[in-house]
Amino acid sequence: MDREQFRKAGYAAVDRICDYFENLESKDVVPNVQPGDVAKLIEPEAPEQGQPWDEIAKDFDRVIMPGITHWQHPNFYAYFPANTTYESILADMYTGAVSNPGFNWLCSPACTELESVVMDWVAKLLGFNEGWMNAGQVGGGIIMGSASESALTVCIAARERFLRLHPNTPTSELVIVGTNQTHSLGAKAALILGVEFVAISTSAEDNWSLRGETLETELKRLEEKGKKPFILLATIGSTSTGAIDNIAEVTEVTAHHPDLFLHIDAAWAGVFLSLEECRQECFLETINARAKNANEVKNDAAICAGGEVHSFCTNLHKSGLVTFDASCLWIRDRELLTSALDVTPFYLRTAQATSGLVIDYRNWQIPLGRRFRSLKIWYVLRSFGTNGFRSHLRKLVNLAKYFEEIVRSEDGVEMFTPRSFSLVVFRILDPSKNREIENKLNAAFIKRSNEEHKIMLTQTSVGGKQCVRVAIGSRETEERHLKESWEGIIRPLIAKAREDVKAEAN
Ligand SMILES: *Cc1c(COP(=O)(O)O)cnc(C)c1O
Repeated sequence: MDREQFRKAGYAAVDRICDYFENLESKDVVPNVQPGDVAKLIEPEAPEQGQPWDEIAKDFDRVIMPGITHWQHPNFYAYFPANTTYESILADMYTGAVSNPGFNWLCSPACTELESVVMDWVAKLLGFNEGWMNAGQVGGGIIMGSASESALTVCIAARERFLRLHPNTPTSELVIVGTNQTHSLGAKAALILGVEFVAISTSAEDNWSLRGETLETELKRLEEKGKKPFILLATIGSTSTGAIDNIAEVTEVTAHHPDLFLHIDAAWAGVFLSLEECRQECFLETINARAKNANEVKNDAAICAGGEVHSFCTNLHKSGLVTFDASCLWIRDRELLTSALDVTPFYLRTAQATSGLVIDYRNWQIPLGRRFRSLKIWYVLRSFGTNGFRSHLRKLVNLAKYFEEIVRSEDGVEMFTPRSFSLVVFRILDPSKNREIENKLNAAFIKRSNEEHKIMLTQTSVGGKQCVRVAIGSRETEERHLKESWEGIIRPLIAKAREDVKAEAN
């Protein structure tokens, strides 16, 4: 392809993308394909002779589109959303043009400097104070690919911190602590690091959030067993039900366990901190607070005090208008990362980094190379403005409130947990109130909804009870979609699920 061909193909691609969004609502959310259907349409080997672009371009509609699940569709309520925006799509085009692995400042000064500035923009948007910002040169933010990568990275930093405080601790004693609502990223980080993951039980009466007393008891129990918890993964907005751990109580406990690193996984819900009305619920004050003795402990052996939040992660690529991927990680002290991850062979030395004038983001992360992700955040925040960003999130919360009303006014279903921002979790009830029958009923509903291509929902199971998650987040969703989804699809499927369970019992 030469430049003139690219010009034409590029214009055509933008036209196709616009057509896609124009026709999105008329498509099924879930594609009607069986495993292997898409692969069958693809040649088993790359062609020896190059093919004309026209032929290649056509295959996006023939091969790929029929196998796409439409996450931007107004009736997509599964998992958590994955917003896209035209601004991000354009940013990804430019990023492709200046393609570079951005691992140190010299790779492309603009990539590093834009990232360190926009991460401060986002920090301010969420209400974080100076201590979290790159400008202060102590803490700072970095854009990673995923919340799992962010969590694994801080687990490495936390392990190194613990080993500096307690040299020669055997790996077999090291423990990552979370709760039974922590995302699987906790267990995965433990698996990768070869340490144990301990999940503290949470209860329905606490809305599945971690309380200080429970944490204290568990830490004591671990201590008695000779275990060494080195990091606590707390959650703001759990994947199952949007549960929020009580961060204020947690820091009161961790103040007495100064070697325990505290990370907050707010992959989905963190962006709601941008809304004034959500800040208290999300413990902003605690996130910003320094421990009383924070300045005393700042020495080589123990960076950061106990009793404060050490790192925080939220994904802008869920409800934050930035196209996948943009996982924002902030750390209170960047040395926690660099002292664990800085390996600088001779060929990677640069005068700018050696003199301490610039950030080398490679020393804050696991891989060397990194994508130029800050451009899409910059474009989105400039084009929407912080007001537009907030309006988008308020709209999602209002839609979820509307849906909550629908659930509350319907017989035979209940809100399983209180609405969390834009997530509604409901449970289908049986007059018998028998837990097993109700579980079967909810499972039968999900099975039915999986066969229905016009809507996409997911299930969860909490405290032995199965229920249905409705995560509202597409920019295309309006009240009418929620109303029509309920009346035209969900309500009839609930009736069918009741018949299924009855038929099975007979
Ligand atoms: C989505 C989500 C994750 C996983 O995010 P990735 O970026 O895909 O790793 C982790 N934790 C919570 C609470 C989430 O909502």
